[in-house]
Amino acid sequence: MNYLNRIIDEYKIKDASQPEFLQAMEEVLNSVAIIFEKHPEYEQKAILERLLEPERIIKFKVCWCDDSGKTNVNRGYRVQYNSALGPYKGGLRFNPSVNESVLKFLGFEQVFKNALTTLPIGGGKGGSDFDPKGKSDNEIMRFCQAFMSELYRHIGPDVDVPAGDMGVGAREIGYLYGHYRRLKGASERGVLTGKGLSYGGSLIRKEATGYGLIYFVEEILKENNKEIKGLKAIISGSGNVAIYAAEKAIEKGMKVLGLSDSKGYIIDDNIDINVIKEIKEVKRGSLKEYVSMAGHGEYFEGSIYDMDLKYDIALPCGTQNEINLDRAKRMFINGCFLVGEGANMPSDNSAISYYLEKGMFIAPGKAANAGGVATSALEMSQNSMRYNWSKEEVDLKLQSIMKEIHNQCLSSIKEYNLSNNNYVSAANIAGMTRVIEAMLAQGDY
Ligand code: NDP
Repeated sequence: MNYLNRIIDEYKIKDASQPEFLQAMEEVLNSVAIIFEKHPEYEQKAILERLLEPERIIKFKVCWCDDSGKTNVNRGYRVQYNSALGPYKGGLRFNPSVNESVLKFLGFEQVFKNALTTLPIGGGKGGSDFDPKGKSDNEIMRFCQAFMSELYRHIGPDVDVPAGDMGVGAREIGYLYGHYRRLKGASERGVLTGKGLSYGGSLIRKEATGYGLIYFVEEILKENNKEIKGLKAIISGSGNVAIYAAEKAIEKGMKVLGLSDSKGYIIDDNIDINVIKEIKEVKRGSLKEYVSMAGHGEYFEGSIYDMDLKYDIALPCGTQNEINLDRAKRMFINGCFLVGEGANMPSDNSAISYYLEKGMFIAPGKAANAGGVATSALEMSQNSMRYNWSKEEVDLKLQSIMKEIHNQCLSSIKEYNLSNNNYVSAANIAGMTRVIEAMLAQGDY
């Protein structure tokens, strides 16, 4: 049995209780087999085992008091995956679905995503099974303070720099940073990214993942002599990534037909993004409210991928495993030829194989949503320089980073003779190659 298959089999036994991690591992490893055929010496250096094992997993109790005076206990985690390229970098997710398997899958993907940005950042991920939905501002603040009371001893501007993810936006980052500053007695702005503009945040960070996704999709279209203008898209999710992907898509002349949330979706010929911002960013409500607030459109329960409407592009920006094989088939029948993943692992492995088999373009999350972490790294640079770039400067840097990620994918496609729609293997190969080079240069670790 070859090295790669042996390791996949070993980890399926070792981490049998971690389905999301195993799914990410299989997706990545199966798509980079070609690297290991070219470099048999990597087995002796245990490269796969070194990539698969996180350097450290920190797990802790988060004890906080709700508004009724009741004490609650949640689990907190930080997975410090790989620091060969720089300090661990990756978001914090607050969601009841969070566990070690989910954070290991996210951290593992993050390592290669961060490598693709070519910026000096390693990979990590963290979070809690805390559910922020329905909590008051004071409860959110007390939870964030309790979470940071433990996390602060494991992070730092040159050690590990968390950011937001699902359930963690500017409000949570503000409370987390305030408490870190209090505990450390020092204003180390570079310890967290996604901060508010008044205390060290970067312009465009909030928009970066969604905008970056559209810049990446545009590069694929250009490469294939297609124009973005006039194409029809559907977007799943209506959180941070989805809102700004929709905003940039509309600005570029795409027709966004619908968006979704965890309960249902809206279809509207004339989507009003400001209404969605009001519902999700201000009221923290449900898309159900959209039709009455906007005065147009229709709301349906269920997944946007189960409806039939003709569209060219799907932008999954909600959560993992939203698209299975049946949904992928339906998307193809509906005319979809490009899937741009704003979320992490929104398509399961059978859906990805189907896209590739049908010649659909697949922009994997690792490449397509890297604009968020790249702009976080730009926030770190600004914090170090104690200087702020203008909105235009950050946006131009983001565009050039997304272009460079696309160029790296194209180089892998050429070097390894991959089919021109196989950005999955291309991104994994390009990201992993950088990490392996850095690991080998630094000796056994
Ligand atoms: P948010 O919490 O801001 O938004 C998540 C959105 O997804 C919400 O609208 C939520 O619905 C919706 N959602 C949750 N579950 C489902 C589901 N099963 N089907 C459809 N929609 C669903 O998170 P973000 O926008 O920050 O993150 C979204 C994805 O993008 C995640 O996979 C994240 O890891 C990834 N990502 C985020 C980055 C960032 O910069 N924020 C960077 C790179 C990747 P509801 O409103 O009802 O809760």
